[in-house]
Amino acid sequence: MSCARNGGSNNIIDWFEEVAEEADKVQTETLKRILELNCGVEYLKKWLGDANVQEMEASALEALYTSLVPLASHADLEPYIQRIADGDTAPLITQEPITTLSLSSGTTDGRQKYVPFTRHSSVTTLQIFKLAAAYRSRIYPTREGGRVLEFIYCSKRFKTKGGITGGMATTHVYMSEEFKTKQKETKSFTCSPQAVISSGDYKQSTYCHLLLGIYFSEQVEYITSTFAYSIVQAFRSFEEIWKEICGNIRDGSLSSRITIPDMRKAVLDIIRPNQSLASKVHSKCEELEVIDWVGLIPMLWPNAKYIYSIMTGSMQPYLSKLSHYAGKLPLVSADYGSTESWIGVNLDPSLPPEKVTFAVIPTFSYFEFIPLHRQSQHSKFKSAVDDFIEDDPVPLSQVKIGQEYEIVLTTFTGLYRYRLGDVVEVAGFHRNTPKLNFICRRKLILTINVDKNTEKDLQSVVEKGSKILSNSRAELVDFTSHANVAKQPGHYVIYWEIKGEVEERLLGECCREMDASFVDHGYVVSRKSNSIGPLELCIVERGTFKKIMEYFIANGAALSQFKTPRCTSNPVLLSILNVCTIKKFHSTAYGD
Ligand code: AMP
Repeated sequence: MSCARNGGSNNIIDWFEEVAEEADKVQTETLKRILELNCGVEYLKKWLGDANVQEMEASALEALYTSLVPLASHADLEPYIQRIADGDTAPLITQEPITTLSLSSGTTDGRQKYVPFTRHSSVTTLQIFKLAAAYRSRIYPTREGGRVLEFIYCSKRFKTKGGITGGMATTHVYMSEEFKTKQKETKSFTCSPQAVISSGDYKQSTYCHLLLGIYFSEQVEYITSTFAYSIVQAFRSFEEIWKEICGNIRDGSLSSRITIPDMRKAVLDIIRPNQSLASKVHSKCEELEVIDWVGLIPMLWPNAKYIYSIMTGSMQPYLSKLSHYAGKLPLVSADYGSTESWIGVNLDPSLPPEKVTFAVIPTFSYFEFIPLHRQSQHSKFKSAVDDFIEDDPVPLSQVKIGQEYEIVLTTFTGLYRYRLGDVVEVAGFHRNTPKLNFICRRKLILTINVDKNTEKDLQSVVEKGSKILSNSRAELVDFTSHANVAKQPGHYVIYWEIKGEVEERLLGECCREMDASFVDHGYVVSRKSNSIGPLELCIVERGTFKKIMEYFIANGAALSQFKTPRCTSNPVLLSILNVCTIKKFHSTAYGD
């Protein structure tokens, strides 16, 4: 049963219920389809030889495939993807030539990397949007012809050496014909025109999203973004710029902050002077300012029914600020996917974000699940740092409720038994397809926005910074880190415990060196645009890390297995670290 057989938007729920009922069989058929489409490609030939994929019965093919094709990491596929990026048009991983590559924010090892993007990627994206919208509208019906305030953004696209288009997957989707058609055809229209979405300048786009959102405020049915961070970031800036926005609405003008000609034109083509709206919004904002903007969203968007965005995983830290702005409006957690493949849909939009699960869509990819067992099963701590023992992968039909797994994907875009690096837990079943809880990324530890850093990245950054210490007679005893999002822009804090005396000047240098040593593209870009602030180095007093270890031990960890967490948001650990901080340093503006 292919994704093409979804039977149109009215039937999309029926379609999904049907494939979920037969998830096991649908998975086997999905794998057969992927292999039929791509049989003979260089990567598969290496493992399957000349196996007659077309003639084989689907379940025999599934057994053959999982026994002959090994589990792969991105590194295993990278040489093929690199050849594609360099312009090799031979059938390497797919029969159809790949013309677009996405920069994934990184899952397998938390590092950004190229992932193939095909028409299938944008088609399934729109399909899951439609499916999720159908389930949402059962609980939160919206008015036909209403509007959506969408905080969505494109990054810049580029060409690889071989002329392949590169960029973030969301950008490819927002630039795709399928998306543009959907924008014209949906029953709720986005407030912002394409020129605002695709400007490539997030500050200017945010201003225009907010301006148009206010301009159309009576018509807005819900507010959305891909990740919750963007909504929070937008409203934090609204607190600063609301007077200017009111001024623009009053006069039908546009702030001189907006310098991109296409965007200026597109926005000015829409707005007309509206004095009464401007003064209404102005007086509401004056009231909101006094109460620290609690309930900003329902106050300014009186017809909004809910807020919709990914609020799970690394977005959880933004939930309290989002609720602050949302007042009593429901927060609806969006679906689960990755650049590599969409995975699951939230079928129960009424659940709060902490309880949301994602029902696997069995036509999108062929999914396998590696059972994971935590080494520190007896510890009550759930660490985001890798701490697992694995069993052999099982197909979707064999997953068990309560068990944690790493997801493995075989996709229509040419990834074969590809380890995604996400840890999920099976929370239950919808008909016969599993419903997943997102647990964590196996190896990612530092992230605020689009930046993704692994424990290894942090280690190498700290190593570089601490080399400077060797100019004095001091040594680094231990370290950890924290992604601080309490104030905008968020920033990284690295905590160091040092033995020996160091001049303050040298410590300042260590801090700057560490900031400059993060090589992650997301971090570098965010630092340059100051959407991540200067790095903070906190020097803690001697014995601090011992206190942390004692805290773990007191709560059930075994000393022989204890590892200092390299990143933490645990309030108890942070309070130990902050109380024990004796000196603080900040790096300068990025690149200075
Ligand atoms: P990217 O590689 O940039 O496409 O990011 C995809 C990753 O974001 C996934 O592998 C997950 O780790 C995370 N992610 C995506 N959707 C969700 C979600 N609904 N809840 C939690 N994490 C998510």
